[in-house]
Amino acid sequence: MTLFDRAAAVIPGGVNSPVRAFNGVGGDPLFLVSASGPRVTDSAGREYVDLVGSWGPALLGHAHPEVVAAVQEAAARGLSFGAPTPGEIELAELIRERVGVAELVRLVSTGTEATMTALRVARGFTGRDLIIKFAGHYHGHSDGLLAEAGSGVATLSLPGSAGVPAAFAAQTIVIGYNDLDAVRAAFAAHPGRIAAVITEAAAANMGVVAPNPGFNAAVAEIAHAEGALFIADEVLTGFRVGPAGWWGLEGGWTPDLLTFGKVIGGGLPVAALAGRADVMRMLAPAGPVYQAGTLSGNPVAVAAGAATLRLADGGVYARVDAAADTIAEAVRAALAAEGVPVAVQRAGNLFSFAFGSPGECGWSGPGPRTYDEVKAAQAWRYPPFFHAMLDAGVNLPPSAFEAWFVSAAHDDAAVEQILAALPAAARAAAAA
Ligand code: PMP
Repeated sequence: MTLFDRAAAVIPGGVNSPVRAFNGVGGDPLFLVSASGPRVTDSAGREYVDLVGSWGPALLGHAHPEVVAAVQEAAARGLSFGAPTPGEIELAELIRERVGVAELVRLVSTGTEATMTALRVARGFTGRDLIIKFAGHYHGHSDGLLAEAGSGVATLSLPGSAGVPAAFAAQTIVIGYNDLDAVRAAFAAHPGRIAAVITEAAAANMGVVAPNPGFNAAVAEIAHAEGALFIADEVLTGFRVGPAGWWGLEGGWTPDLLTFGKVIGGGLPVAALAGRADVMRMLAPAGPVYQAGTLSGNPVAVAAGAATLRLADGGVYARVDAAADTIAEAVRAALAAEGVPVAVQRAGNLFSFAFGSPGECGWSGPGPRTYDEVKAAQAWRYPPFFHAMLDAGVNLPPSAFEAWFVSAAHDDAAVEQILAALPAAARAAAAA
């Protein structure tokens, strides 16, 4: 009996998060037993260079010794108290130091909680019910946010989720990404009823699709002119694409609320919503919007997060950016050498690959700019490419709809191993 058979007998689908299944590429998922720096090791003892990075948290690489030490020290002092701790203040201060618009920070355990709560705060603050989200963006699995969501929902080709009451779904207006006219039209169609627009600061759950230049600023301006809030979901981009996330990298817009996750927990469950003090003071016990969590601001988790943020200096981002540039360009070149058309999709150090060309796929840019355009890509070339890389010891995201995650631990040896695997993978993609 394989581990996957055992898992499937006790866990639905054999996985505790659908993105870990190999539905998008075929085959059984690897079961990992350890990880260090740029590498992961599976249950058969095989080592892989990893470009999943726990789906984002592993900015420094896996199991950075100083982060592990911080976790061990915190764990030795106690695992959870259900009372305030100094560590929570430290993490909130580290977040605010880097992202000035995060005036107040509420720590939660998952990105799903962060965005779900941000919507409740926005509704409480504005007294309005409707939310605008963009097709292909993923904001976690709360009821109102699964319509035309990216990530695993896209990989499984689902329009949304069963089990979401129609009345809840009706509170979410889904419109095309990078389409300002659609934003204006939605506000015009529902005057005075829209509480907030939520957007991935740069979309990275339908593959990577950066916002058009000025898009975030224009959406924020439109929302504010209509009395609505602008919520930037930086769960994935925050503290990854730069020390102040996509907000810091792009500049020129002011969110009312932001959401963070992944990197701020350094591999343990920490996420946050943050933003304007007057809006954040809606949260209980300061205000009337209720939110709570037994393990919120858990002392071990915040120690991992704070250690990670303290270590994430300019040198870390320079290393991640350089490795991302090298790998993205090498993939493009390897595919070009085999005559495989591909668009390299970038948002800072995040990247993914859309197979196809504007002519074949009807893209409005050099690569896809919207979810419909992403779905027109030749994604069938990805599974053979993925498996060829895996056979050569490189662990890629098991879906064409996910970003690749590089870490500061991706040294020359790790990058060389990736580059060496590419020619055979490009041939496999060409033969598909
Ligand atoms: N928002 C974004 C942009 C994300 O990428 C994710 C997770 N991939 C989430 C929210 C949800 O976070 P979590 O999986 O921690 O609930």
